[in-house]
Amino acid sequence: MEKLESTSSRIQTVAILTSLFKKVLDENKDLIDKVVYFIQGKLWPDWYGYPEIGIGEKGIIKAIALASGLKEREIEELYKSLGDLGLVAERAMSKKKAVGLAAFVKKKTPLTFEKVYNTLKRIAFMQGEGSRDLKIKALAGLFTEASPKEAKYIARFVQGKLRLGVGDTSIIEALAQLFGVPKEQVERAYNLRADLGALALLMAKEGPDVVKRVHPKPGIPLRPMLAERLHDPVEILKKLGGVGLAEYKYDGERAQIHILPDGRVIIFSRRLENITEPYPDVVQYAKKHVKAKEAIIEGEIVAVDPRTGELRPFQELMHRRRKHDIHIAMKEYPVHVRLFDLMYADGEDYTDKPLPIRRKKLEEILDQVEEFRIAENKIVDNPEDLEKFFYEAINNGCEGLVVKAIHDRSIYQAGARGWLWIKYKRDYKSEMIEPVDLVVVGAFYGKGRRGGTYGALLMAGYDKERDVFMTVCKVGSGFSDEELAKLPELLKPYIIPKKHPRVVSQMEADVWVQPALVAEIIGAEITISPMHTCALDKVKAGAGLAIRFPRFIRWRPDKGPEDATTCDEIIEMYKMKLHKVEE
Ligand code: ATP
Repeated sequence: MEKLESTSSRIQTVAILTSLFKKVLDENKDLIDKVVYFIQGKLWPDWYGYPEIGIGEKGIIKAIALASGLKEREIEELYKSLGDLGLVAERAMSKKKAVGLAAFVKKKTPLTFEKVYNTLKRIAFMQGEGSRDLKIKALAGLFTEASPKEAKYIARFVQGKLRLGVGDTSIIEALAQLFGVPKEQVERAYNLRADLGALALLMAKEGPDVVKRVHPKPGIPLRPMLAERLHDPVEILKKLGGVGLAEYKYDGERAQIHILPDGRVIIFSRRLENITEPYPDVVQYAKKHVKAKEAIIEGEIVAVDPRTGELRPFQELMHRRRKHDIHIAMKEYPVHVRLFDLMYADGEDYTDKPLPIRRKKLEEILDQVEEFRIAENKIVDNPEDLEKFFYEAINNGCEGLVVKAIHDRSIYQAGARGWLWIKYKRDYKSEMIEPVDLVVVGAFYGKGRRGGTYGALLMAGYDKERDVFMTVCKVGSGFSDEELAKLPELLKPYIIPKKHPRVVSQMEADVWVQPALVAEIIGAEITISPMHTCALDKVKAGAGLAIRFPRFIRWRPDKGPEDATTCDEIIEMYKMKLHKVEE
């Protein structure tokens, strides 16, 4: 570790690692996985979901004091002046007093890596009452057996600050050199099974050729395929060879869903953490609606409004993650899944097959329901359709589109950001900072829990010039249960058989309403929309403006329809807050 720490040359890093790994193979090859993890500063990959070592700075200081016989205060002083607990441990252990634990350790046998690893593992698994003291004592025991230099690295490891500067790529290169196989093969295997330790062990046990045969395995995450970015629909189609599969880019949490042969379901995040626990409902959807014994599929978990089924912003998912009682959180923040890929199914690796084949298989093994279905998508071959679909996605609560290649070489590029997937997001957005007063011009029947009442209202702004009402959003959120229950009664006197002559709408409401009722509405932003008529052709040809993520605040019985916010005011609001999206 000292050697690794002191070099900044990658070639040297790889050489040091190669000789270290060789030594491990010669002496005890069963340890190779653990050595790899240790070099990465971990006891195991994060996605195992095992406990952490769980000793903070204070605990490490206590352990050093215990082991060295120095006072805690002295250790703290040292920490203040040296600023690195590793150096503190080294210094303290080199001047340890005979009264410390060290005094009781008889003849010193050298401390092995295996013992360090196993002790730290034991410490991590110490849980519950009194475990803090036990953890500290066990760590002090390790320090006592260690040389000062060893104590330095143990202290840093426990603190999570090993920082050897060894990246995955160096480890991959070292393994390739050691086993005499091309680097690309090791890399490929790692992309399909994101566990370098396990891969090293597999090569050590089954021989280097095993990397060629590595396939995805349910239970071990794949490194995700990532998208490049472009802003111009013409460019996007050009890159994809003239035609692509455009899909809504949902603003949620990416989920790699693994269905294991024993019936278990494991969900991994974009960063390959195990996120099964916060999503028991997603586990149930997968168990119920995937008809394969074994599979790895991918999609986006999105928050939905519990009453309307409309998509909600990403932040709501995070509320859910923060809730302690997951069963309450599940009700308050329900989620749906929008699936977009399949990497493995029933013994077959699909990563090297083109997207249309992966999608066909995904459709075959899915029993699609509203909560768990394939992402909204469309095959597009011209920029106009692409742009229209893009605005549709935005108005439905999405960030934009991911447009994907569908040619023969459109494989699943695990671990790579490439041009087979292109994200198309907006350059500009216009935040909405103040509410507007809008007129109800139509209504949509409620689904599910909203059966029997309305699920959403079609709202319009007032176009003063033409003296008409132009639609700007569909609002379904923000109503209390009471307000919802009252909707049918409230709208009844105004219901008319067809669209009111003073209403301009491209949307077809289930029920048309005479412009009369005014409500205060706030949204997240104002955006261009081909579906709404407010400000039609004024900001962009062929499109109007819409309010994204609208919420009902209250009724404004004091206002008549002509007192509603005008379309010109909405254009002003849009222009005022328009700014470049920061990445
Ligand atoms: P971003 O911050 O834009 O989400 P990112 O770095 O997380 O970027 P990118 O590859 O750049 O990842 O963008 C793709 C991300 O978009 C995926 O990680 C996934 O979470 C999300 N996503 C939403 N819908 C889709 C979809 N239909 N297909 C692929 N990815 C999707």
